[in-house]
Amino acid sequence: MTHSLPASPPASLPVQLHIAVIGAGIAGLACAQALVAAGALVQVFEKSRGVSGRMSTRKGEGWQCDHGAQYFTARDPAFRAEVQRWINAGAAALWAPEVRVYDSAKADGFTSPFGSVDRFVGTPGMTAPGRLLAENLSVRCNATVDSLQRKDGRWLLHIAEGGPLETSFDIVLLAMPAPQAGVLLRSLETPLLAVTQDVRMRAAWALMLQLDAPLAADSADPDYPADAAFVNSGPLRWVARDTSKPLRAGKQIWLLHATPQWSETHLEAPREEVAADLLGAFADLGMVTASVEAIGSSANWTLHRWLYADTEQPLNRGCAWDADAGLGLCGDWLLDGKVEGAWRSGRHLAEVVAGEF
Ligand SMILES: Cc1cc2nc3c(=O)[nH]c(=O)nc-3n(C[C@H](O)[C@H](O)[C@H](O)COP(=O)(O)OP(=O)(O)OC[C@H]3O[C@@H](n4cnc5c(N)ncnc54)[C@H](O)[C@@H]3O)c2cc1C
Repeated sequence: MTHSLPASPPASLPVQLHIAVIGAGIAGLACAQALVAAGALVQVFEKSRGVSGRMSTRKGEGWQCDHGAQYFTARDPAFRAEVQRWINAGAAALWAPEVRVYDSAKADGFTSPFGSVDRFVGTPGMTAPGRLLAENLSVRCNATVDSLQRKDGRWLLHIAEGGPLETSFDIVLLAMPAPQAGVLLRSLETPLLAVTQDVRMRAAWALMLQLDAPLAADSADPDYPADAAFVNSGPLRWVARDTSKPLRAGKQIWLLHATPQWSETHLEAPREEVAADLLGAFADLGMVTASVEAIGSSANWTLHRWLYADTEQPLNRGCAWDADAGLGLCGDWLLDGKVEGAWRSGRHLAEVVAGEF
């Protein structure tokens, strides 16, 4: 079930297959798009209101903030070409933040990161690349697939919000975090269930903090000595001034991500407690010099709890495919654990499926 990663899109299918892709994150969308290009009839199902999964942007009154993926890198040539396509379409741009590394063991706290890397973000928000990918796809949102059934060699799906589907499918591809795929597979006889149990996905608390300070004219604003920091001590792992990203509008926003360890020990803690701890840790960093006290007492925060934010040790297999059942798996947890890996995993699964027919 492991295959070498393809560099090119899948060749055309000799027969028209009817395929269900479940999950409209970047992996599912990349997979669906490549399969449509190969001639398959593809229906994507997504439980949320919109596409893009963990590449997401929260919107409030007068503000927006990327509260999942913060940025993405593009090392693989095929993914670099795809990112260039997104940039050309206005759906992504380079983000060149002033980044620091914070460690309380260091004399002055902050150091510069080792090495440099191109960081890209969706524009005007992190969902834009996903929405671009979905443009020519048939995607049904608000559709949680809660069971799969194999009957007469075809797949029947049940949607929590709408009951059983009349349409049946030749192939079903699950493009979602491993634990969620495991739930759908648990009553089926397939070796894919064991694959989903090979990884541990971890939680993350995300806090979006609105500051009353006016939007800085540019990222060189002296009020903000850095735009983002990797944090190596305390409850935080990453903080970023979301409004330093290109084409952001609205109030000044900082995004704080907690470490997986802290998030998991505080998974069920009251929100006020979680917020107080994270805001206190952020104030201690001294990155927003003008308003440390205001931060501690700020009521202008929004929290989001990610149950499956990242994978402790992603599998390096690309995707998984059960040819006998016509069932496949893709997602970041099968390759590198990031946006780039998710996109490549989706394309990889499309190539494997197309290669079977
Ligand atoms: C807090 C956080 C910070 C991150 N930071 C970065 C970063 O800086 N750089 C980076 O590259 N990556 C980062 N990531 C990881 C990145 O977001 C993921 O690697 C990538 O978005 C995963 O895409 P995916 O398609 O595999 O999964 P997802 O984006 O999780 O997509 C799965 C989709 O399936 C849907 N779904 C699940 N179950 C069902 C069902 N039963 N029926 C229908 N739909 C279903 C979900 O709603 C979701 O939309 C971060 C993630 C988080 C949460």
